[in-house]
Amino acid sequence: EVVLSVRNLTANVDGTPILKGVNLEVRSGEIHAIMGPNGSGKSTFSKVLAGHPAYEVTGGEVIFQGQNLLELEPEERARSGVFLAFQYPLEIPGVSNLDFLRVAYNSRRKAQGLEEIDAFDFDDLIEEKLDVVKMNASFLSRSLNEGFSGGEKKRNEILQMALLEPKLGILDETDSGLDIDALRIVANGVNQLASPENSTILITHYQRLLDYIVPDFVHVMAQGQIITSGGKELALELESRGYDWVLEEFAAAE
Ligand code: ADP
Ligand code: MG
Ligand code: MG
Repeated sequence: EVVLSVRNLTANVDGTPILKGVNLEVRSGEIHAIMGPNGSGKSTFSKVLAGHPAYEVTGGEVIFQGQNLLELEPEERARSGVFLAFQYPLEIPGVSNLDFLRVAYNSRRKAQGLEEIDAFDFDDLIEEKLDVVKMNASFLSRSLNEGFSGGEKKRNEILQMALLEPKLGILDETDSGLDIDALRIVANGVNQLASPENSTILITHYQRLLDYIVPDFVHVMAQGQIITSGGKELALELESRGYDWVLEEFAAAE
């Protein structure tokens, strides 16, 4: 079952073309890693999928579960089962993490035609999900993201994903300061949540992350396009040989 189909997607930032024809097909149960040099458009791609207003789609299409994703508002995209960590506000003083998670969870349920969850049932559910990220319940009473360390923010991202059970999770590991613990948190979370019913797009600069998460497909993005794709062994090849050979092969084929 094809979950996401991206065809010839082009997008501008401030009038400058950044995405120049991205093609990608993701089926249910698959983990796709997108790698590539800095500035190649990886984060732009994830923001366009999320519906970030600063990014103007100029062509192509994105079909998510048979629906034109580009027609949906960012919140509708989230409700329909696309998860992006940065869809959620960075810091909300005075709003507890628990309250925030409950609102996000109920919003997703509503979109699925379900009733709001009973508060006690939510407590049970969240306890189970805390286990995925090895987090203490005291974490929930703190204001959302306020004073969270980098590792705690990562844990919280994975907690949100564990709770919302998106059909498609998109993780953009942009933070060059991610330490090995944070990488492991992300990896454990992704591995535990992966199932035949959902899919993950993992954008990363780090081959290291793929020591912990075994992707089904690895794509290289450069100059706003996916210029080559392969299996998990491609990540190892990129680690030992860098990106230049891929760029050269792509230029030669053009
Ligand atoms: P990557 O995530 O692969 O490192 P990005 O998607 O962040 O690449 O950036 C791709 C290109 O788009 C870069 O040249 C970057 O400078 C430019 N770009 C991205 N976002 C913006 C923005 N909001 N304003 C101006 N330029 C941007
Ligand atoms: Mg970058
Ligand atoms: Mg980036």
